[in-house]
Amino acid sequence: MKKKNLNQRSPARAICLENEMKLSTTFNLGDKVHWINREYKKTQVTCPSCAGKGKITLSDGEKYTCPKCIGRCYQIKTDILKWHPLPKFTLGQVTITISDSPGIDGEDRFDNFKPKKDREERYMAIETGIGSGTLYNVKDLFATQEEAQTECDKRNKEENDKRE
Ligand SMILES: [Zn+2]
Repeated sequence: MKKKNLNQRSPARAICLENEMKLSTTFNLGDKVHWINREYKKTQVTCPSCAGKGKITLSDGEKYTCPKCIGRCYQIKTDILKWHPLPKFTLGQVTITISDSPGIDGEDRFDNFKPKKDREERYMAIETGIGSGTLYNVKDLFATQEEAQTECDKRNKEENDKRE
């Protein structure tokens, strides 16, 4: 019986492999990195429009439900907290999505037919789950505490400048 060489590639497959893309990633799996994040803090505050009464009184004495709090007497105030580095975690999965499409002429109603050229690199961490869990964008991951802090300071300053 003739032994079949499983490693032998068909000519078509060989061509595919020759043209295979060589991808490199910013981090390696098993690398420990800092993630930078910012949270939102929501607090319940007494409605300033009706002073917490839930109703407003017009000049003629007629009472209406406060349109700002819809009679709930409170509003939700959202504070955006500053960017800050989190303790290191371990990378366990990487997903790279590279798109390079000229799009289809005249098909601009849907995003998937529009021209697209970009590269996305996302990671999952062992500590927060692989497969399902949080996806971390490479732009928010840093090898050292110093790099992470520098980027946090930069983003906080930019956002501060924007607010002023
Ligand atoms: Zn109110």
